[in-house]
Amino acid sequence: MHPPNDPWPAARVAPRTVRGYPAETLQAVIDPDFLALLACPLCESRPPLRQQGEFLVCDACGHGYRIVAGIPELLPEDAIPPAKLKELLDGR
Ligand SMILES: [Zn+2]
Repeated sequence: MHPPNDPWPAARVAPRTVRGYPAETLQAVIDPDFLALLACPLCESRPPLRQQGEFLVCDACGHGYRIVAGIPELLPEDAIPPAKLKELLDGR
């Protein structure tokens, strides 16, 4: 058995841009160590969030949370519904 000793293989082969944003800019917005501490406020299981553009996205419920000036708005009342989030992400 070969345990995966590289939990973030994608980080080494990160694309130069993500949805038009330079990867360096994304990393500057949310620190990966900080992101790992965050969880979706709407899900009981507190799943981890994934950064997509200027949003944090919950893969469990599909809600998105806006990142404003580097601070994610992780409040249930600020949650962007999945349909609206898709609109925002596709509209760029
Ligand atoms: Zn969620």
